[in-house]
Amino acid sequence: MNGPDAEEQGPPGSLTDPQAVPPERAAEAALRPKRLDEFVGQQVVRDQLSLVLDAATARERSPEHVLLSGPPGLGKTTLAMIIAAEISAPLRITSGPAIQHAGDLAAILSSLDEGEVLFIDEIHRLARPAEEMLYIAMEDFRVDVVVGKGVGATSIPLELPPFTVVGATTRAGLLPAPLRDRFGFVGHLDFYDAGELLQVVQRSAQRLEVEITADAAGEIASRSRGTPRIANRLLRRVRDWAQVRGDGNLDLIAARAALEVYEVDQRGLDRLDRSVLSALCTRFAGGPVGLSTLAVAVGEETETVETMVEPYLVREGFLLRTPRGRSAARAAWEHLGLAPPESGTETAPMLGRF
Ligand code: ADP
Repeated sequence: MNGPDAEEQGPPGSLTDPQAVPPERAAEAALRPKRLDEFVGQQVVRDQLSLVLDAATARERSPEHVLLSGPPGLGKTTLAMIIAAEISAPLRITSGPAIQHAGDLAAILSSLDEGEVLFIDEIHRLARPAEEMLYIAMEDFRVDVVVGKGVGATSIPLELPPFTVVGATTRAGLLPAPLRDRFGFVGHLDFYDAGELLQVVQRSAQRLEVEITADAAGEIASRSRGTPRIANRLLRRVRDWAQVRGDGNLDLIAARAALEVYEVDQRGLDRLDRSVLSALCTRFAGGPVGLSTLAVAVGEETETVETMVEPYLVREGFLLRTPRGRSAARAAWEHLGLAPPESGTETAPMLGRF
């Protein structure tokens, strides 16, 4: 992050940051669904995955490698854990940024047990040599271990037992084709609708052993940016508010009051979302403006704006990605209480995934 207000604005660590901050991991672990039939929503991916797993179990083979893509907080890690649980296999967890050198990956691969599931989060951030080693290992179940240095170095091929890679990425487009092609199943997770999030909130309230009224659960669901991680986080904050400032009941009054304290508005937008829209409308006359210029204007990293802020604003029809840059849609002006310019600012959206 850069910029003077970066710390205050988030989103890392803010209430609607779709990434988990480290102290939150334990709270999340308690709420994670453990089996596929407890996993709410994502019907298509769930059905397809269930078929892949059932077929592998019937053949007594490891399932094909699985790639899960989609914005943070939608359940990629949860699904990786579920895959391992469904096939009763051990799970090893690592991430692209944690693997600095090909040797780090060689050490992991050569210590895998037969049938183990290797979860690689943020797989698009693997260094190139590790990436190449990985796709050879995924295809041929072999890793070339280099022994010695300089002219005397020799490469010894090491056979690996069958295993399954589950890769997760927020940026599927950044994966090189040779790596992407090694995945037998690719599932794209999309934002959840309000009904699905309502189920997530109610299920989590049960797990936390708190009672919540249906309208309070609905209020949290509708302000959770289509993201279960945020729904669970808002639920915990509403519970705090009810205990500390309210009468202990998780009702609509507590939900609205807590969400106001945390500056989450009716559409689930937080301060950073609003400042992106506000910069777009007031400083760039609605756009189009380049992503990096927009990010600088709000004191954020380009990647933060692109992966955490934009997808939801695009999906909710506030922001348009056009070939010439980002533009504010009419809904953005209206949401901020600003008058849209006379002639349309809405240009044709750019096709393709983000
Ligand atoms: P990602 O890896 O995509 O960032 P996670 O799998 O870590 O997301 O999910 C974040 C949290 O949201 C988890 O703790 C889990 O409790 C909850 N969650 C995600 N997807 C679902 C779902 N489909 N049903 C219920 N809870 C979910």
